[in-house]
Amino acid sequence: MKKNPRVCQPCTACCDGWVSMNIKGVDVYPGKPCPHSTGKGCDDYENRPPDPCVHFQCAWVQENSVLPEWMKPNTARVLVVRDKLQWQGLSVDLAVPVGKRIPPRALNWLKQFAETQERPLIYAEQIIEKGEYSPSQNLIAYGPAAFQQEVLEWTAAGRKLW
Ligand code: SF4
Ligand code: SF4
Repeated sequence: MKKNPRVCQPCTACCDGWVSMNIKGVDVYPGKPCPHSTGKGCDDYENRPPDPCVHFQCAWVQENSVLPEWMKPNTARVLVVRDKLQWQGLSVDLAVPVGKRIPPRALNWLKQFAETQERPLIYAEQIIEKGEYSPSQNLIAYGPAAFQQEVLEWTAAGRKLW
């Protein structure tokens, strides 16, 4: 029997600015959620833009997700994006905290997954300046030394990773 697909509600982690984006002309970033996010859903769901709203799926909600049930972004406080980035033929997982930092349980799971599946990982920490979240984030690479070096070069060059 096919398992029921996972549903987003009441999660709004991707609408709440933990990943910077622009929604219908409005910049959304940490500390500045999409104006249509109610914190439990979207108040303009029928008119949400195709990109990113309709097309985006985090790794937890994807069909046949590799993430365990407890890693739902609003409770595990981490949002994982898969298959956006490749490094030397390997898929890189991207993980963003829903809050300042990814909690230890979720981060340990992601690191172990990166090791066993040979999937390099990039995870973020939010930057707080004068008591407010900054639109930019610190990025930490977890994987082979050459991968870590390359991510340092990407970030120094200002490359956008997601
Ligand atoms: S972060 Fe994932 S589960 Fe949460 S609303 Fe976005 S796509 Fe759905
Ligand atoms: S328009 Fe709706 S679905 Fe899109 S980011 Fe805003 S709250 Fe989320």
